[in-house]
Amino acid sequence: MAGGLISVAEARRRVLAAVEPLPCERVELGAAPGRVLGEDVASEGPLPPYDASAMDGFVARAGPAEELEVVGESRAGCPAGAAVEAGRAMRISTGAMVPEGGEAVVPVERAEVVGERPSSGGADAPERVRLPERAPGDHIRRGGEEMLAGEVLVRAGRRIGPAEVAALAAAGGGEVVCGAIPRVAVISTGDELVAPGRPLAPGQVRDSNAPALAALTERARARVVYCARARDEPAATVAALSSALERADLVCIAGGVSVGEHDHVKGVLAELGVEERFWGVALKPGKPTWFGVHGASLVFGLPGNPVSAMVTFDLFARPALARLAGAHEVVPRPIYAALEESVARHRSREQAVRGRVEQRPDGAHAIPTGPQGSHRVTSLLGANALLLVAAGEGELPAGARVELEPLS
Ligand code: AMP
Ligand code: MG
Repeated sequence: MAGGLISVAEARRRVLAAVEPLPCERVELGAAPGRVLGEDVASEGPLPPYDASAMDGFVARAGPAEELEVVGESRAGCPAGAAVEAGRAMRISTGAMVPEGGEAVVPVERAEVVGERPSSGGADAPERVRLPERAPGDHIRRGGEEMLAGEVLVRAGRRIGPAEVAALAAAGGGEVVCGAIPRVAVISTGDELVAPGRPLAPGQVRDSNAPALAALTERARARVVYCARARDEPAATVAALSSALERADLVCIAGGVSVGEHDHVKGVLAELGVEERFWGVALKPGKPTWFGVHGASLVFGLPGNPVSAMVTFDLFARPALARLAGAHEVVPRPIYAALEESVARHRSREQAVRGRVEQRPDGAHAIPTGPQGSHRVTSLLGANALLLVAAGEGELPAGARVELEPLS
């Protein structure tokens, strides 16, 4: 690693170069939210499927203001059995099919019913209505005006959210082809670690990395299939990593990747045949980040410091998970904001400063969330972005434009 640090951009390139999307699966639409669409989906028919009324009211020919006899009704889901004739009107409800001969709809608020309804005025008394002037197409949604049969509705590679679900449901069948949900293994290492909820003996700290990396995995819409804590011993590391490699598409092992005497992770990775693609990134926090591949599995050796582990997961593992899942856009689009306070640059490493972006009337502002030591787990509280500060001399002054990567 010494001197051989690669840039964040180069590290990402090497990660993404190693990832192939997982095979797609056919899933019920109800199970699709959060997944990525695996193929372009075209509309099975026109949208709307037929000429429909946009209002509750009356349908008739277009024409001048006039009084018409009301004959029949077209209701949503229950079209009229007959055409609307010239010189007649028909009751119609929102979403109901416009009957043959219907040229314009008049909302009920603008129509004046003349005399009594047949129900109260006797079965034979015809209902009459006074309609104002109306033009062809008034208050009618044309069949196919939104989309024609066969038009692509949602493209492959898009994450399926509520809007995509609505469009897919309106225009298609009950199943969709989706990318798989990547399986993730999380291992934390360290003799000093105890499970959260347990008392601490002298020299111990609670394991925050395993639960944090599991939470980040969930946020990245992947699934934790294996979670373990390993002691700083080669045998324990071999056991945990072997189990992880058997089960997961992506393995994160945190801690033990530095150059300390008790850092066994790199040696074990080599022993298990995991091929190194890089070790060492010109990044703060996150310098000792390691990445390699084992068959189709991706392995990240993340630094043990809690902030470093979380930041490097977001910068490197999250895009890999997105590509495994079939997403086309795997790196969040950068946004820019005015730095609220100056940040000292690091001479040779890019910094990922935890911060909060706030939208104000004069634009977006980026506010670092307090002291930035990589052991300070609380520096991530309230952060919604990483402020990417390039390496260099001096400081990036308050007010400077800074690139951000959103964390949500
Ligand atoms: P390492 O990368 O193993 O040298 O660990 C660097 C620092 O991170 C040490 O102070 C560790 O105690 C701490 N650390 C490592 N793993 C964890 C963890 N799972 N939870 C909390 N702190 C950790
Ligand atoms: Mg350690």
